[in-house]
Amino acid sequence: MRRQPEIWRALVALERLAERHPDGFLGYDHEFRIVLWSPVLAKMFGIDAEDALGRDLFAVLPFLREGGEDKSFRAALRGAHKEVRGLAFALPETGRAGTLHLYYSPILSDEGEVGGGLAVIRDATAEEKAREQFLETESRFRRMADNSPVLLWMSGPNGLCNFFNQTWLEFTGRTLAEEYDVGWAEGVHHEDFQYCIDTYMAAFKRRESFEMEYRLRRADGEYRWILDRGAPRYSPSGEFAGYIGSCTDITERKLAERELAKAVNLRDEFLSIASHELKTPITSLKLQVQLLRHTLGTIGSTEAVARIGKAVDMSERQIAKLTELVQDLLDVSRLSAGRLTLTYQTVELGTLVRDVVERLSGLARVAGSTVDLRIQENVAGNWDHLRIEQVVVNLLTNAIKYGLGKPIVISVTKRGGGARISVRDQGIGIAKDQVGRIFDRFARAVSAEHFGGLGLGLYIAREIIKAHGGRICVESEPGAGAEFIAELPLVPATPLAEARS
Ligand code: ADP
Repeated sequence: MRRQPEIWRALVALERLAERHPDGFLGYDHEFRIVLWSPVLAKMFGIDAEDALGRDLFAVLPFLREGGEDKSFRAALRGAHKEVRGLAFALPETGRAGTLHLYYSPILSDEGEVGGGLAVIRDATAEEKAREQFLETESRFRRMADNSPVLLWMSGPNGLCNFFNQTWLEFTGRTLAEEYDVGWAEGVHHEDFQYCIDTYMAAFKRRESFEMEYRLRRADGEYRWILDRGAPRYSPSGEFAGYIGSCTDITERKLAERELAKAVNLRDEFLSIASHELKTPITSLKLQVQLLRHTLGTIGSTEAVARIGKAVDMSERQIAKLTELVQDLLDVSRLSAGRLTLTYQTVELGTLVRDVVERLSGLARVAGSTVDLRIQENVAGNWDHLRIEQVVVNLLTNAIKYGLGKPIVISVTKRGGGARISVRDQGIGIAKDQVGRIFDRFARAVSAEHFGGLGLGLYIAREIIKAHGGRICVESEPGAGAEFIAELPLVPATPLAEARS
């Protein structure tokens, strides 16, 4: 091996450095003969120094020329510095293969002339494998994330979001670029925004997991309730790397919860009205019984007998009221359980209505209302007598109760293939926004202070008419009265055995 004396000193210095350096050092002269071959290279390529020194470097490492690297070696001889990363190599004779990073520079003489070239070579095989594995893991994660039914997001150690899966992007209908950093927060409902940011930031500061519910705008513009669960994530070396979060659409659950809360509210309100309604006649009954006991002591006088008679009348009225309330409650539970059975018989509607009006005439008189009957004769059908009677009692009682003592008109007519009952009053009427709900269970359109009632009568009436295959509706002008119209088919549409509501 012949070393050019002008770079001799430089080579000696490089040789020393190379002994301790983790990278391999390859020195060459202007004829591409190897003049420096460090121990690291011997190990890297499986070629000892004595087999390499003095030889043509492209003959020793043929892959360099095959990979086009001879250009870099030449460039260094022209004084250039160059870096090449990720060069694949294979040496079939020694069985070595892998990836290299190379750094080229000229070797300068004391006079500053290029006396040769130096390639510092690093074995990057393990590093490259790790990088590939990382990329593979990363792409596998993305594939999994994108196919996940839940919406996923990730943030970095600075709290800003740097990943959203495909499911998220499809949900919001926005691009990654739009959602990045804090862009995603634009889709959060303005009422939930502050809570959302506060929860995230508070958890973030303490590196704690969190759970929050908020409304997020879907691609179609509808806000959906989202349950977002976030957890801190850490790098393999234990460093805090940000958060990862998963979101599920819980709108249906939220709605069900709200419905349930409404139902519970309605039930509680009903129970309080029901107990009040039941207590009133009981209090009155108690009073009458006390009066009876007191009057018993003075029995013998005609005045006492008259008083007893009055108290008994009153008690009977209260008992009838209680029975009616309990009957309504029973009917509702029957209807809820689908156990309303009808017993069909031939009913002449005019006669039925006349009887009811007769029975309630006392009540109408007390209220100051007259009841005008307009009955077409012989409107007969196959119906449940007691149930139809219940409907008429209900409609007429309401007309008297809400009729402000003004005249009431009841008519019975034949219409097409059916019968029609109309009960019209000129009382308080029904507010427009209440008309749609007064047939619902427990629905009342008046305040409990002014009018009693459980809000069940019309519900039961509607169910009875429905079970007969008919329909019931109301027309009303607030302040000008209401007309309730029930229509019944002459032959019930539902066969007897299935006549259940
Ligand atoms: P209630 O026992 O409370 O009267 P209903 O089911 O019979 O229950 O009636 C439901 C609601 O409909 C009543 O609370 C009342 O607000 C309204 N309503 C019923 N009939 C009339 C009517 N003839 N005029 C005005 N409002 C009525």
